[in-house]
Amino acid sequence: MDILLSGQAGEKHLLLGNEAIVRGALEAGVSFVSCYPGTPSSEVPDTFFRLSDKGGYGFEYSTNEKVALEVGIGATLGGASTLVTMKHVGVNVAADPLMSVAYFGAPGGLVLLSADDPGCHSSQNEQDNRYYARLAGMPCLEPSSAQEMKDMTRAAMDLSRQFEQPVMLRTSTRVNHQRGEVVFGEMQPPVQGAPFVSDPRRFVIVPAVARARHKILLQKLEELRQEAEKSPLNKVSGQGDVGCISSGVSRVYLKDALTDLDLLDKVRVLELGFSYPLPEKMIEDFLRGLSKVIIVEEGEPILETEISALAHRLGIEVEIHGKSEHLPHFDEYSSLIVKQGLSAALGLPQTAAKPCPAPQGLPMRPPNMCPGCPHRAAFYSVRQVFGDEALYSSDIGCYTLGVLPPLRAADTCVCMGASISTGSGLAKVSGRTVVAYIGDSTFFHSGITGLANAVFNHHDLLVIILDNKTTAMTGQQPHPGVEHTSKGPNTARVDILALVKACGVEHVRVQNPLNMKATKEVLEELKALSGVRVLIAEEPCPLFARRVMGRKRPATAVVEEGCDGCNECMDHLACPAFFTQDGKMVINPDQCNGCMFCVQLCEHIKPRKRS
Ligand code: SF4
Ligand code: SF4
Repeated sequence: MDILLSGQAGEKHLLLGNEAIVRGALEAGVSFVSCYPGTPSSEVPDTFFRLSDKGGYGFEYSTNEKVALEVGIGATLGGASTLVTMKHVGVNVAADPLMSVAYFGAPGGLVLLSADDPGCHSSQNEQDNRYYARLAGMPCLEPSSAQEMKDMTRAAMDLSRQFEQPVMLRTSTRVNHQRGEVVFGEMQPPVQGAPFVSDPRRFVIVPAVARARHKILLQKLEELRQEAEKSPLNKVSGQGDVGCISSGVSRVYLKDALTDLDLLDKVRVLELGFSYPLPEKMIEDFLRGLSKVIIVEEGEPILETEISALAHRLGIEVEIHGKSEHLPHFDEYSSLIVKQGLSAALGLPQTAAKPCPAPQGLPMRPPNMCPGCPHRAAFYSVRQVFGDEALYSSDIGCYTLGVLPPLRAADTCVCMGASISTGSGLAKVSGRTVVAYIGDSTFFHSGITGLANAVFNHHDLLVIILDNKTTAMTGQQPHPGVEHTSKGPNTARVDILALVKACGVEHVRVQNPLNMKATKEVLEELKALSGVRVLIAEEPCPLFARRVMGRKRPATAVVEEGCDGCNECMDHLACPAFFTQDGKMVINPDQCNGCMFCVQLCEHIKPRKRS
C-alpha cells in the first residue's frame, strides 16, 4: 500500500510538498476532495486520484475551479470534511461561490488550497491570493516546508471544522515542489459530520440573509483573530532591537539570509504561519521595544501595509521597511535577494551577488510542443491555409506553446477558456478573419459558454477544438470528454461533437490533423463559410496514447538520400526530432514519435520500421 496511506505515526518519510498536503488531509480525516489541476498544485489531486480506490474518501476532477468549489460546498454542507484544490488563477474562476461560502460557512469543514506561482513559472500572472483570503473573509495558513505542508493542512481542517468556516491553505511553487523530511502523525478515518439540516436563513443567501451573515462572518473573524494570537503556527525567536516579520516560503529565505549574515540570534523574528486574521496583539508586543522592523514577504506588500497601519494606529514608533525601499515587489524571492534587502535595510555592506554559475554547454531548450504532437500538425495546416491573413486567438494548454515561430499560432491568450470569446470580440471590431484555438479540457473548463455566446450573438470566427483526448499539460488528468483514464475507460463520456451541435453550431467538422491533405481541405471549406464554424481536430496526445492507451511507435521517419537541404520542414514545421548535421537534415529516431506528418511534407522523408 502507498506509504501515504499505510505510514504510521512517528515514521519519517521524504515527501514532495504536495504529497505532504495529501498526508495531512488524510490525517485530518478528509472525506471529500474536488479539484481542477494546475501547476503548482497538480500533484495534490493526482495523488488523491491515485489513492482513491483505497483512501475511503470521495474524489473528483471537476470541469473547472468554480465547479470544484461548488461541489465542495455541497459536500461540506452535507457534513463531509472537504478539500478543494486549485492553482492561484483558478481562484479567480472560483471567486463567485468563494465570496458566498464564507458568509454561510462550512459545517463539515472546507479547506481551499490556493497554490500561488510567484515568478510565473507556469502561469499568466503572479497574483497573491492572500488578498482573496481577506476579500472573502477566510483565515489563511501559509506553510514554508514539507513538514508544515502536512501539519498546516491538518491544522486548517481542524480550524475549519471548529469554526465551521472555510480556511485557505496558501502555498507557493517552491513549497509545493520542494522535497523534505516529514514526520507522520496519527491517521483518522474520513470524518463525516452531521447530515445537512435545512436552514434557509443561513444557506439560502438572498439579500436579507447575506446582510445578517456578513455580521456573523465579521464576528467569526474576530474569534479567529483570537485563535491566531495563541496559535503555535505563529512564533517568535531571536533577540535584539531589530526585528523581521515574515510569512510563507519567505520565512525560509529569511532564515538563510540571517544565517549568512551571522544575525540569527541578534535579530528578533516573528514567523506568521497563521497569517490572517492578523494576530494584532502578538504583533503589537513584538513591535514594542524594536527600533526597526523589516517585513519579508514575497508578492504583494500585504503584511507591510497592514502592520504599518497597525503601528500607526497604536502609536508605536518603529521604522518599518520592506518592499517600499529594499525588497522587490515582483518575482520570486531567494535567500540572496532577501540577504541583499536585509543588508540594505540594516545599513550593512552589500555583498556582491554570487549566483551559482550556470552549467556550461547545455543545449538551449525553449518551451516547445513534443515531437509528434497533433497540435503542431494542426497549426501547420492552418498556417498553410490562413497564413498571416488571420488573427489567432489562443488559450491555456500545451497548444499555447505554438506561439513561437515557425507556427506563430497565438496573437492573444488571456486566461482559461477565453479564446472563443476574445476571438469573437476581436473579429467583430477588427473585421479580420479570426481562428480561435481551444483544447478539449479547456473547452469543458469554460469554453462552452464562449461558444454558446458566439452562436447566440452571430459572431464570425473559426473555432478549432484541439481534442487530444486528455488534459495533457498538467499531467494527463481526465475530463468529461475522455475515452480513457489511467484507471480504465470512461463509461460516462460527454461527446464534444454533440455538445458543439447542441450549442447551435451549423458547420462543424471532425478531422484528424495528422492527415495533412484532408485537414487542409476541411480548412479551405470552413474558410469559405461565415458565422461560427468549428473544426474538432481529433488525435490523442502521443505521450498519453503510449502511456495510457498502450499505443506502440512501430515506425520512425528518416530523411533519405536526395534531401537538398531546402529546410522547408525545419522552417515551417520544426518538429523537435529534426536537427541538422553537416548541412543535412536528420531525424532523431529516439525523439520521433512516428506521427508521419513530416512524411507528407517532403518526398525525401520516409517512414522506416523500427528495429
Ligand atoms: S504533451 Fe502531448 S499535447 Fe502536449 S505538447 Fe507534448 S505531445 Fe503535444
Ligand atoms: S514523424 Fe516527423 S513530424 Fe512526426 S514526430 Fe517523427 S520527425 Fe516529427
